[in-house]
Amino acid sequence: MATDYDRPRVESKDESLDILGPGRNSAQAAVADVEESDTAESFELPGADLSGEELTVRVVPRQADEFTCTRCFLVQHRNRLADSAESICMDCA
Ligand SMILES: [Zn+2]
Repeated sequence: MATDYDRPRVESKDESLDILGPGRNSAQAAVADVEESDTAESFELPGADLSGEELTVRVVPRQADEFTCTRCFLVQHRNRLADSAESICMDCA
């Protein structure tokens, strides 16, 4: 009686492991989607006091040793400048 009862329990354990694998991957993809759209709201964690965080995490304007690529419009460091005449980064060159 006891041995018959144990066998199906081992099989169901393997099934739950298979479900965990792809489930964790899709959860990570969902987090990536949230970061692209609305980061400010997703950082509001329940119970966490983030009232002082806005002062330390701020958007820094373009620095003197950086440039804005005229094709992808990303601010990049000067050593990634491929064409100084047109301000094009190495990714777009
Ligand atoms: Zn670029």
